[in-house]
Amino acid sequence: KLSKRLEKVASFVPTGAVVADIGSDHAYLPCYLVHQKIVSKAIAGEVVKGPYESAFRQVKLEGLEDKVVVRLADGLEAIQKNDHVDTITIAGMGGPLIVSILEKNPDALNSVTRLILQPNIHAKVIREWAIRNGWAILDEVILEEDEKIYEVLVLQRGEMTLNEQQILLGQHLLAEKNETFLKKWIREIENWKRVLQSIEQAEQTAEIAEKRKELHHLIQLVEEAIK
Ligand code: SAM
Repeated sequence: KLSKRLEKVASFVPTGAVVADIGSDHAYLPCYLVHQKIVSKAIAGEVVKGPYESAFRQVKLEGLEDKVVVRLADGLEAIQKNDHVDTITIAGMGGPLIVSILEKNPDALNSVTRLILQPNIHAKVIREWAIRNGWAILDEVILEEDEKIYEVLVLQRGEMTLNEQQILLGQHLLAEKNETFLKKWIREIENWKRVLQSIEQAEQTAEIAEKRKELHHLIQLVEEAIK
């Protein structure tokens, strides 16, 4: 059975899409998409040999060799022109790694109309990348599973303007302010306050002063947003 997290990612894949799942590990997501008849063809990309082999084994085990193509490749290099991929999923990594994958081969995105990205941390850098590159956030979800909080961002082509609060917290998530969202940001504020306290005791260099200023700013920004 698929995790709640990957099920949420799958729920945003349009029926009939041609999907590339980058950093697929066991290829659970592409196999699920094919089994559920959401897609008829998918690519599972992996850059590390071990996970690539698990993906390969899983696809074979599920008898999906004709429908899920597993490729050992770095990021978007797993996608070939004649695949006609229109949807990319990248899940279970940090925001900065997801952005670096998107930035490394921008041409691979030419035929793509939807990105479903699930950063474990730092979703903010994905929103910044989207603004810079002509993508808009169609939907966003925050969910908790096994005591961990995850965000899923669904992007399509378009322009968007976000303020600083919306870039950090997500405009849809901020508008909704559900329980998981509040839990995440209350936790973040507590962490920042703890860091602040510990650096109060440190030697007050210019660098520390800068860090304090930044933390105060973040705390104020988020406290204001969630009140
Ligand atoms: N996507 C799956 C999920 O969400 O459960 C697996 C997540 S796993 C934590 C991250 C995977 O991304 C690892 O298997 C890793 O090898 C792979 N990965 C990291 N950088 C990559 C890259 N540049 N190209 C392809 N795969 C990459």
